[in-house]
Amino acid sequence: MAARTLRIGLISGDGIGKEVIPAGRRILEALPASLGLKFEFVDLKAGWETFQEQGVALPDETVSILKSDCDGALFGAVSSPTTAVKGYSSPIVALRKKLDLYANVRPVKTVVSAPRPIDMVIVRENTEDLYVKEETTRDTPDGKVAEAVKRISQRASSRIATIAGEIALRRQKIRAAGSPSIHKGPLVTVTHKSNVLSQTDGLFRSTAREALAVPRFGEVAVEEQIVDSMVYKLFRQPEAYDVIVAPNLYGDILSDGAAALVGSLGLVPSANVGEGFAIGEPCHGSAPDIQGQGIANPIATLRSAALMLEFLNEEAAAAKIYAAVDANLEEGKLLSPDLGGTAKTEEVVQDILRRL
Ligand code: ATP
Ligand code: MG
Repeated sequence: MAARTLRIGLISGDGIGKEVIPAGRRILEALPASLGLKFEFVDLKAGWETFQEQGVALPDETVSILKSDCDGALFGAVSSPTTAVKGYSSPIVALRKKLDLYANVRPVKTVVSAPRPIDMVIVRENTEDLYVKEETTRDTPDGKVAEAVKRISQRASSRIATIAGEIALRRQKIRAAGSPSIHKGPLVTVTHKSNVLSQTDGLFRSTAREALAVPRFGEVAVEEQIVDSMVYKLFRQPEAYDVIVAPNLYGDILSDGAAALVGSLGLVPSANVGEGFAIGEPCHGSAPDIQGQGIANPIATLRSAALMLEFLNEEAAAAKIYAAVDANLEEGKLLSPDLGGTAKTEEVVQDILRRL
């Protein structure tokens, strides 16, 4: 079998991004040759340091190389100034727009032997809803009134539901291949508030339902839940969820809330996904409080690298990384300080590479 070569952009960014992205590169390089995968890496700039050097947080070069030359990317983290700085805006938000990365995918998972195992993934629509940022403020006799547009389209709702269905099927395939799981069959929960917002969330709900009703998702159970009751159940009974699909705002809130269920931000990966392209991104930030000490937990990044591979249709390679990470956590001997251990980033990486 001819080896497939994947070109991966590496955007370390700021703070601990510089410490964890190299770990992501190393785990990809360490994948067994029998998988038939080769990697080429290209270092790319973005972030606060880049802004200070070049006056832009996301150089055009970074975008054009990602577009024309890369199959996927790993994005570390970027610091943002505490007060607004003219000309500075978040590079990851801009990247999502420029590359039309319409889905933000966040798996939240414990090891199966945890006292209360959870294994869910939140699929958040990434391009519209209240985040179209069309806000206005006007003066009235009673003081100012501010308004924001909440935009929901059939097209965006349909494609986010479709990718959620595909993720549910893929998770089922990985389970069937012997990966231990707490779930029996694939389930997608459509989240909305259409009892109040009957037009916008109503459209999201009906479109998502339709997209998931096609024959190829015949095996996928679909249920729906109002977002507020979902938050309650998410905390009381997180094991009940497999794949959650939500409009942008609810998805944003749910995915941070769910991340709190698993102990440390240092464990939680994400991916920004578009047609044929995926950026893996740990869900933590640049963590200035621990930067430069060599103690950042690399697992969120290692899992993000695996998640990126899933969306490049390399499930077998992804499964190897997940298994090596889970084995490290199950044993619990070499854990970074955020998990109560004393291991350095390097020791955790070495342990996981050894298990690969
Ligand atoms: P930013 O503005 O870049 O988001 P932040 O100050 O909000 O930075 P986060 O990166 O969001 O910091 O992290 C929040 C907390 O979680 C910090 O105390 C940080 O040290 C801790 N943390 C985040 N990521 C990791 C990691 N990979 N390993 C260990 N601790 C982490
Ligand atoms: Mg933060």
